[in-house]
Amino acid sequence: MIIKPRKLPEEIKKLRALTRRLPFHHPKMTLITEQLKRYEAGYNGEKSLDFPLSFLQSDMMVFHNLRLHDGKHYFQIDILLLTPNLAIILEVKNYTGTVTFDGLFHQVIRKKENMEEAFSDPLLQVRRQQYQLSNWLYHHLHISIDIESLVVMANDRSVIKSTSDHPSNINKIVKRDYLPYRIHELLEKHKDKPPLPLEVISQTLMTGHQDPVQNILHRYDIAHSELLSGVACPKCNILAMKRQYGKWYCPQCTFTSDTAHNQALSEYALLIASTISNREACTFLEVPSRFVVLRMLQNYESTGQGRNVKYVLKEE
Ligand SMILES: [Zn+2]
Repeated sequence: MIIKPRKLPEEIKKLRALTRRLPFHHPKMTLITEQLKRYEAGYNGEKSLDFPLSFLQSDMMVFHNLRLHDGKHYFQIDILLLTPNLAIILEVKNYTGTVTFDGLFHQVIRKKENMEEAFSDPLLQVRRQQYQLSNWLYHHLHISIDIESLVVMANDRSVIKSTSDHPSNINKIVKRDYLPYRIHELLEKHKDKPPLPLEVISQTLMTGHQDPVQNILHRYDIAHSELLSGVACPKCNILAMKRQYGKWYCPQCTFTSDTAHNQALSEYALLIASTISNREACTFLEVPSRFVVLRMLQNYESTGQGRNVKYVLKEE
C-alpha cells in the first residue's frame, strides 16, 4: 500500500532547468551536469525497486522520500516500509562498477575503468537515520517501534565486495532482487512484537514531511544575470524561438508552437522565483509586447501550469 508515492524530485527538475539555462561553456556546467547525473542515477535506482517491492505483503505501508526535521537537522529516507511491529529504512544506491565496503575506515570505494573513487559509507547514513527516526517517533507519539535498515544496491551489474573486517555489514547490504526475501526475514524476526497504531503513525509521518525549499542559484552561487533568456524549441531544443504571427517559430528547424513559452515559465519558477511580473516575463521570454505576454501568463495559469509560476502584476 503506497502511502507516499514517488515523485520526480525537485532537485532533478531544478538541475535540468539549470543545464538548459546556463551557457554551454559556463564554468559550473560540468559540476551541475555531474550533480544531475548523480541525482538521476539515484532516482532511477529507486524506480527499479518497484518490481521487487511489488512482491511484499499488500498491507505494508510504503513511503517514498520522507523528509523529516528532528529539531536540529532534516533527514530524508529514500523508502520507509511500515508494518504494525516494524519499520524498515531502505537507502537505495545505484553505484556502477565494483564497489567495496570498507568497514575499517567507513567508506565505500568504487572502482570503475581503473579509477578509484571514495563515497561516504551508506551504512553510517542508515544508522544515523535509524536513530533520528526512532527519536522522531518517540518525540511525536511517545512510541518506540523496532527499526531495521538496509542499504539496497539497485544496479544489477555492480559487483559488491566487503573488507573482511566487518562481516556484520553483510546483513545490512542487499542486492535489489534479494530485497523481498531479506524483508521477509526481518518481518519474521520481529513478528512477536506488540502491534502499534499504524494509521496514527502514518498520518503523523505524512504531516511531519517537509519538501525541501532551496534556491538553486544560491546553492551554486550563480547570478540571475548569468542565465540565458528566451524560449526553447520543443523539437530541437535550441533557445532561439521567435514570435511570428501569434506563434512561436524555430529558425533552426522551422517547428511552430503555440505553447513553447510554458516551459520557459516553468524554468523561471524552478530557478528564479515563483512569481513574475509582466516586465520580467517580457525580458525572460524576449517578447517586447506586454499585451502578448499578459495573454501568455493568463493562459499559462488557466492551463493548470500556474501552480509553478504565479503571475503577479508588480508595480513598475
Ligand atoms: Zn527547433
